[in-house]
Amino acid sequence: MPSGRTHDRITLWTLPVLAGVTLAIARNSAITLIICAGFLFGGLMFGPDLDVLSVHYKRWGWLRWIWIPYRGSVKHRSVWSHGPVIGTTVRVIYLSVWLTVLGLLGLTLVNEVLRVGLTWEGVGRSLQQAFQQYTVEWLWFCLGLELGALSHYAADWGISTRKRHKTEGWKALFPVRSKTSKRKSSTQRSPTRRR
Ligand SMILES: [Zn+2]
Repeated sequence: MPSGRTHDRITLWTLPVLAGVTLAIARNSAITLIICAGFLFGGLMFGPDLDVLSVHYKRWGWLRWIWIPYRGSVKHRSVWSHGPVIGTTVRVIYLSVWLTVLGLLGLTLVNEVLRVGLTWEGVGRSLQQAFQQYTVEWLWFCLGLELGALSHYAADWGISTRKRHKTEGWKALFPVRSKTSKRKSSTQRSPTRRR
């Protein structure tokens, strides 16, 4: 598995390529900026390795604790964190739930301390308007997030396959469990069954 630093380098090296290709296709600097911002956030902070104690996790600073339940419930490199589209979708939903909870708590606190009279309904309506007004921009940002995650999956797969290739040859490209490993695991399990 590549280190966090290797993933960072891949993200930063591929950023100019992504910016160039996006600008050439979209011919729009705002779209390019939004996709690149999502790509950087997805590659450096919001990446699949939030399922372990990683640089992604540490970069959340004092807010890193919100990822502890995620880390505890999602198996490292499982489809829920490292699956294309699924991984990003799960993390977006997970973060949205936390932002809603923290937003509601913050709103209650502000109302109690400053007596500003903000209502959940009013804030919810403003947020809904903001999402509706900038739906396309949010979708571009999500595309950037997914591209950032894809560069991570590709690096994980590429480096693991290269390591396996050294011992297994071309079979490394098709990681199926060999008869030997199946036999081995059944032998390992048999003492448990006897117990
Ligand atoms: Zn990974």
